[in-house]
Amino acid sequence: MPPENKTEVLVVGAGPVGLLTALLLSKQGVLVRVIDKKPGLFPVTDACLLHSRSLQLLERVNVRDLLPRGQRIDLLSIYEGSAPIVQWNCADLSPEMPYLLVVPKGALTAFLEKKLQEAGVQIEWNRRLSGLGASKGHVVATIERLVISAKGYIVPEMDWEVEGTEQLEARFVVGADGADSKVAHLLEIEQQLFGDPEFYVIAEVESAWESQNEIRTVLGPDRTSTLWPLPGKVIRWNFQLSEERLEEFPFKERAPIPIEQPALDQANRESLAILVRERAPWFKGKIGAIHWSTDASFQHRCAATAEKAGCLLIGDAAHETNPAGMQSMNSGLLEAARLAERLTQVVRHGADSEVLEEFSRKHLQEWSSMLGVLPASAGAMASAPAWANNRNLRLLTALPATGRDLAQAINRVHLNLALPLAA
Ligand SMILES: Cc1cc2nc3c(=O)[nH]c(=O)nc-3n(C[C@H](O)[C@H](O)[C@H](O)COP(=O)(O)OP(=O)(O)OC[C@H]3O[C@@H](n4cnc5c(N)ncnc54)[C@H](O)[C@@H]3O)c2cc1C
Repeated sequence: MPPENKTEVLVVGAGPVGLLTALLLSKQGVLVRVIDKKPGLFPVTDACLLHSRSLQLLERVNVRDLLPRGQRIDLLSIYEGSAPIVQWNCADLSPEMPYLLVVPKGALTAFLEKKLQEAGVQIEWNRRLSGLGASKGHVVATIERLVISAKGYIVPEMDWEVEGTEQLEARFVVGADGADSKVAHLLEIEQQLFGDPEFYVIAEVESAWESQNEIRTVLGPDRTSTLWPLPGKVIRWNFQLSEERLEEFPFKERAPIPIEQPALDQANRESLAILVRERAPWFKGKIGAIHWSTDASFQHRCAATAEKAGCLLIGDAAHETNPAGMQSMNSGLLEAARLAERLTQVVRHGADSEVLEEFSRKHLQEWSSMLGVLPASAGAMASAPAWANNRNLRLLTALPATGRDLAQAINRVHLNLALPLAA
């Protein structure tokens, strides 16, 4: 193959996890290419929550440049109905990085893309992975070049067409291609499912709220809700709902191109206000204009292996939890750092690829013990208060912490768990 069709590592997916992996690899002098099927980064406004551990990792790439775009969080509170049951300062869990950051997802990915460009790597947009093969100890990826095509006469329809394909030879492929991972499909890696899908309504709305540096998680008898402050006078609600109750939110009728729909906005605002009164009676603010909203289902799952035939899965490609604690993305960032370190050892320093198998084993152990073993064998501590009983999995996945910080947070909420969490 000509040299331009070869690389040391191909990263599939330019989401937060793929971008951080590529950035850390390129900083170690590893030859890396990044492809994404999308046409580019859009100014996505919906927020994500960066845990203290993720901010520590991002310090390696000057996270200070990102801080002004976000809302700093110093306090975490768990409510049962209208009363707080546990509260702690972020500094108690993580003295080295004593806060969390709520930031628009678009700002995070734009920050990582800029850093990657400064490191001399351009993301290859409109490139979709469609096949994986093997040749002489390397992975051969088939990549489609996509172009936009306009069809229709009176009503134009935009679609994507395959303009051509190319083959790229890589020593390793990192599948950071999200929940519906093509890498996992092509390698026939099964996903282990835990429990039933959970349904959420997520809305970012204008509203003045006095508690700008606090995240609140509300544990209902069988549903979880969270409130995050966003930069400016905007807040984010995540409400777990039954599938039937999603009908009260006609988000799906929204057109793909934003157009004014005042009646629909009003209906959604009224339904949100009802939920807020039910779940968060302490909230006295008004529900103003909706900036962004959606409904989505989340399935607790974990890939059966994170390593196969020279390919590695990380981030949402490898696992998913509900959005309450934002654990899937933050664990993905931690995996990006661990994997970049191991790939550098193999590619640059001749380490045995056993270190990659070990990465997969540890990852599996961590996720399956979190999602699988938990409901069966773990209980609350003998001395735990009543609210901690029978809510283990919901409590665990709602904790906004990763790695060793999660172990600390588990103690705070009286869960009797010794998870194999890496630092
Ligand atoms: C509506 C919604 C709301 C959410 N809210 C929350 C929340 O509140 N809290 C939370 O924890 N998490 C939330 N999540 C999940 C969160 O977005 C993910 O955990 C996070 O984005 C995972 O990052 P990632 O980099 O692993 O994957 P992604 O961000 O999904 O990125 C994957 C990338 O791979 C690209 N790709 C896919 N297939 C191919 C292919 N064949 N070839 C090339 N490129 C490909 C995609 O275009 C995409 O850019 C939400 C998800 C959704 C859908």
